[in-house]
Amino acid sequence: MNGVEKRMRSFDAIVLGAGITGTSAALHLQGRGLRVLLVDRDAPGEDATRGNDGLLGRDGYSPVPVPLTLPGIVGSALTRRRGFGIDSRSLPDLSRFFAECRLAAQPAAVARAARALAPLQAVAAAEHLALARAASALRFFRRTGWIKLLRSPRACELAEIDRHFARILGVPYSDLDAVEIVRLEPHLRSLEEAAIYWPESQSVSSPGGVAKAYGRLFRERGGEVEIGDAATLLDTRQGYALRTVRGEVGAPIVVLALGAGVTPVLARFGLSMPLAACRTYHRHFRAVSGVSLTRPVTDQEGGFTLTPMERGLRLVGGTELMSTARALAGVPVRANALHRAASIAKGLLPLGSAVEDLPVAGVRVFVPDQLPIVGEMPGMPGLWLSVGHMRDGFSLAPAMARLLADLVTDMLPLADPQPYSPSRFLVA
Ligand SMILES: Cc1cc2nc3c(=O)[nH]c(=O)nc-3n(C[C@H](O)[C@H](O)[C@H](O)COP(=O)(O)OP(=O)(O)OC[C@H]3O[C@@H](n4cnc5c(N)ncnc54)[C@H](O)[C@@H]3O)c2cc1C
Repeated sequence: MNGVEKRMRSFDAIVLGAGITGTSAALHLQGRGLRVLLVDRDAPGEDATRGNDGLLGRDGYSPVPVPLTLPGIVGSALTRRRGFGIDSRSLPDLSRFFAECRLAAQPAAVARAARALAPLQAVAAAEHLALARAASALRFFRRTGWIKLLRSPRACELAEIDRHFARILGVPYSDLDAVEIVRLEPHLRSLEEAAIYWPESQSVSSPGGVAKAYGRLFRERGGEVEIGDAATLLDTRQGYALRTVRGEVGAPIVVLALGAGVTPVLARFGLSMPLAACRTYHRHFRAVSGVSLTRPVTDQEGGFTLTPMERGLRLVGGTELMSTARALAGVPVRANALHRAASIAKGLLPLGSAVEDLPVAGVRVFVPDQLPIVGEMPGMPGLWLSVGHMRDGFSLAPAMARLLADLVTDMLPLADPQPYSPSRFLVA
C-alpha cells in the first residue's frame, strides 16, 4: 500500500538502524517467529557498516590504545600522532568516557574483557557464514588470514598482549619474519621488520554488500523495511511508537541498533552512556599492473589497514575520536585525513590512482571497555540496545544478534550476557 497510513500498524518488534547490527538483529528476531519492522533514515548498510576494513578478525585480544593521561589526551588533540587524533572541541563532553577508559585499562579489566569477548569471537565467522549462505552472499567471504606488521616498539608491545590472550584463548597465530611476509604477500616491498599472522581471520570484499544481502533476505522472508527517524520514538506505556514515512507504527519491543545515533535517542528518555564516536576514513586505490594483496595487512605504526576489496585496495586510517554529538553534527571531513597513511602505504606497495575524489568517513561507537552493548535498558521494559563493537562490530554483529534474540525470547543465551549489559554504564 502506498502513501501515509492513518491507523497505527503494530509489529512484534521494531529494529531501529539497518546497519550490519540492525539487519542481523532483524533476521534473528524474525527467525524466532516475530513480526519485525526494520527502520532506518537511510538506505540499509550505509554508515560504519559500509566503510570498514572488512575483517572478521580472529586474533588474541589487544585493546585499541587510547590516551589515558591528561598530557596524552591533550597531545592527541593537538597533534595527530600515527593518524590518531582527538577533536579538541569534544573534550568537555568526553570526560566521563576517559574516566571509564582508565578503569577499563586496568590489567584485570582487560583480562575480563578478553574473556568476555571470546565466546562471541569464537562463533562470529560461523554466524556470518550461516546468514551469508541463506542470503546468497558467500561470494563476499574469503578465508584470507590477516597480517599485522610489527614496525615499531609500540606495535611489538601490542602484539605481545595479543599473543598472551591468544595463548590463553587458544587462538592460533604464527610469527613471520621478513622472508615469510613476502612469501605470503609477494607484492609487498621486502621489509626488515617482522609480523604476526592470524590464519583464522577472514575478510569480506564488500561489507556494505553483505549488509544489503542480509537486508534482502529479511525482506524475502516477509520482513518489512521502512524509512523513518528514531528521533520520533515514544514510550506509550503499552509499548513504543514511532513515525515512519508510511505512518505510525508500534511494538512492545524496540531494538536500538543505531550506531553513534543511539545517544540522542537515549537522551529523549533521559538516559546517557559514556560513549564516544570514532571517525575513520577509507579510500580505494586501483591496482598498478596487477600488483595487489590477497589478505588484509595492518600497519599499526602507520595507523592503517589495506584490504583488497571489490572496488580496489581499500586503505583505512586517519582516526579521530570525538563526542557522538559532534560526529552526528557532521564535523567537516578532513580532505587530507589519509595523506600520512597513503604515503606510508605507498612505501609498502605501489598504489594506483584513487577511486573516490575524497576520503570517505565512517563513524563507529567507542565503548570504554571495548565490549559491545547488548541487552534491555534497565527501567525501560521492551527497549533493547545493540551497539556495535568498535573494532569488531562488523564481525560480531550476527553473533550479537543471536545473543539479543536469545535474551528477547527468553532462551538459553549464546554467552553470559552480563558483560554486555547496558546497566554497566547507565546514568539516569
Ligand atoms: C573505518 C572503520 C573500520 C572498521 N573495521 C572493522 C573491521 O575490519 N571489522 C569489524 O568487525 N568491524 C570494523 N569496524 C566496525 C564496524 O564497521 C562497526 O562496528 C559496525 O559496522 C557497526 O554497525 P552498526 O549497524 O552497529 O552501525 P552503523 O553501520 O553505523 O549503522 C547504524 C544505522 O543507524 C541508522 N541511524 C542512525 N541514527 C538514526 C536515526 N535517528 N533514525 C534512523 N536511523 C538512524 C544509520 O543510518 C545507520 O544505517 C570498522 C569501522 C570503521 C568506521
